[in-house]
Amino acid sequence: MKTLLTGIAELITNDPSLGDGSPLGIIRRAALLIENGHVVWVGATADAPDADERFDVGGRAVVPGFVDSHTHLVFAGDRSAEIAARMAGERYTGGGIMTTVAATRAASAEELRALARARTREMTASGTTTIEAKSGYGLTVTDEARILRISGEFTSETTFLGAHAVPPEFAGNRAGYIRLVTGDMLRACAPLARWIDVFCDEGAFTGDEAREVLRAGIAAGLVPRLHGNQLGHGPGVRLAVELGAASVDHCTYLTDEDVAALAGSDTVATLLPTADRGTLSPYPDARRLIDAGVTVALATDCNPGTSPVTSMPVVIALAVRETGMTPSEALHAATAGGARALRRADVGRLSPGARADLVVLDAPSHVHLADSAGSPMVSELWRHGRRRV
Ligand SMILES: [Zn+2]
Repeated sequence: MKTLLTGIAELITNDPSLGDGSPLGIIRRAALLIENGHVVWVGATADAPDADERFDVGGRAVVPGFVDSHTHLVFAGDRSAEIAARMAGERYTGGGIMTTVAATRAASAEELRALARARTREMTASGTTTIEAKSGYGLTVTDEARILRISGEFTSETTFLGAHAVPPEFAGNRAGYIRLVTGDMLRACAPLARWIDVFCDEGAFTGDEAREVLRAGIAAGLVPRLHGNQLGHGPGVRLAVELGAASVDHCTYLTDEDVAALAGSDTVATLLPTADRGTLSPYPDARRLIDAGVTVALATDCNPGTSPVTSMPVVIALAVRETGMTPSEALHAATAGGARALRRADVGRLSPGARADLVVLDAPSHVHLADSAGSPMVSELWRHGRRRV
């Protein structure tokens, strides 16, 4: 079955060898042919090949489905009291994670599954077609494995984040918790995850602890990524580069050495501006990173304490307003950048060979995303060549 989309005012391919030659590879008055769930042809509508069925999108823009490369999808509980206190001026320290850990441990698997399902529905409705999902609100062998098992029902991009925080039962015994994370917990979780992550920051895990956790994960066959440089300057970025991590996420506080290290590496800098908004922190400087040649991704950091956000268009709008990105750079970061952060070549682009994961925007140009600030922008969403929204 060959399906042809026509009437595309602006097709964002993210392939600079196509269309206008920009990083977005924009083809105007375009058509796109889908077969077996994949894009098999793109070009001008006038040159479109035959197809079994045709859909006219009516002069709208088509962009790759968003790749949300950083979410904490599976959790229970409510942290509105903490959010209210912070909005009244209290500083974020990461301590509220334990509130979510207690609620998540107490929830049934069916409750966690229903909550995750509701969040993925919101993500889909706002244009996301690929998500990453972390554990990190269980912090016992059983609870971390349970979160990863449920996460795996929603995505293949699952991340073991046992080193999210030291749980209360290990207060005063950090070394004992690291032994658990790198020992029994890793053995139970590695078969359920693709990635290993650690929160390396002020008040979280030190550089040496984070290195130990990530090295153990690598030895167990997982690929490293990490939370770093969110709450202050620190070793996170340089550790990510040293270990060949796919991504270092947050990057709010960077030295010139951090930026240079990222620029000379394959490690993506994933920015999470809705989390900086939620913690009343400064915003990261995307302009500085892009000008230095660093690959930048944007993601929601969907979590109950600092970024209860599921919408990538909101992230794009905030990134353009606050981090120095152009609308085109922000869209690229939310699609191709996220794909790079997950080391995926099959998503985040719409050129031949890619998965047919795409969004028909309710606008003639992708630039409207930068101004939508949360208004619904998704006219249609197609995943793996089938219309889902
Ligand atoms: Zn996070």
